[in-house]
Amino acid sequence: QVVFIPREIDANEGRVAASPDTVKRIISLGFDVIVETGAGLASRIPDADFTKAGAASGKAADVAKADVVLKVRRPSEAELRSYKKGAAVIAIMDPYGNDAGVAALAKAGVTSFAMEFMPRITRAQVMDVLSSQANLAGYQAVIDAAAEYDRALPMMMTAAGTVPAAKVFIMGVGVAGLQAIATARRLGAVVTATDVRPAVKEQVQSLGAKFIAVEDDEFKQAETAGGYAKEMSKEYQAKQAALTAEHIAKQDIVITTALIPGRPAPRLVSAEMVASMRPGSVLIDLAVERGGNVAGAEAGKIVTTDNGVKIVGHLNVAGRIAASASLLYAKNLLAFLETLVDKDTKALAVNREDELVKATLLTDGGKVVHPNFADKPP
Ligand code: NAD
Repeated sequence: QVVFIPREIDANEGRVAASPDTVKRIISLGFDVIVETGAGLASRIPDADFTKAGAASGKAADVAKADVVLKVRRPSEAELRSYKKGAAVIAIMDPYGNDAGVAALAKAGVTSFAMEFMPRITRAQVMDVLSSQANLAGYQAVIDAAAEYDRALPMMMTAAGTVPAAKVFIMGVGVAGLQAIATARRLGAVVTATDVRPAVKEQVQSLGAKFIAVEDDEFKQAETAGGYAKEMSKEYQAKQAALTAEHIAKQDIVITTALIPGRPAPRLVSAEMVASMRPGSVLIDLAVERGGNVAGAEAGKIVTTDNGVKIVGHLNVAGRIAASASLLYAKNLLAFLETLVDKDTKALAVNREDELVKATLLTDGGKVVHPNFADKPP
């Protein structure tokens, strides 16, 4: 059976779904591997490294031979035309708000898996693409902020005077936010952070940052059983905004990462708050592709406001550090693929009763089967 790794066609996607290391391991599972020419270039993996690992070099059209396709992004309708019916396709499917893209997967007859739905249980930690990618995005957000900020981050006491430390505020402390706190601290910034989930408070403090939040009764129940945030009430949001407004005016850098699964990102920073910041301040909106946490943020752009504040809305921030992101992503996919292979026959054997399969299976046998999307006609 053949595993194919295509070159991603999205202009903003530098990641690739395999590394030379994972290619070796996929071959040892019993597969032949074909990697499309140039697939790894933007992640600094030359074609020769894949062939040295045992892969054949191929063209995009070779996907027609594949029983398994490992991808970063959901294949487009045009890409799907060459896919074999019944092929397993494993990628970040980004299905919310993309009904047509999901329907196209069903129509192509592929067995598709949405890696972002991997349950957050111990067994699946190694397959958790949201964590592996968000961690790097959180790091990169601070690097991007430092590059746009034209003052120093650490306090510097010099003979010529003292440069004060930058004040950095992290809004939303999941995986990305935690890494942003750690990175900003390493660069010497004074860091504060906020979230609606109470469990976060201790984590923030253990990283040496100060936790700021409206800690009322609603806050005490804001975490779902799955560990994600709930959408907060209008009343809570108003209290949160009042607290934030006062704090943000004193910050140099604000990094927002707040997401709610399946919902638009919560708006946390208003235009008035942006206007209250001093010239040269920087906001990085990691949620910009999901509607944005910051008023005025534009996907794919750096907007400079009238008062000289930069609002950075880079797309695919994990992809901005593609070489590292690909290594981890490739490992996540390999670990999941291993669970789909019968150890004895060395063939693909998708167990539809396995909880990992149940959680991630998006389309199967020509239908959209995931419970969050299944009622929509293909
Ligand atoms: P996410 O990307 O869904 O959201 C980012 C953060 O934004 C979350 O912390 C969320 O609480 C916060 N947020 C949402 N609405 C907000 C608002 N109005 N104001 C402020 N903050 C808001 O989250 P994530 O990074 O995927 O992490 C979710 C949780 O899952 C975390 O507790 C994380 O530690 C946990 N996790 C567990 C595992 C595991 O057990 N295997 C793996 C990874 C993450």
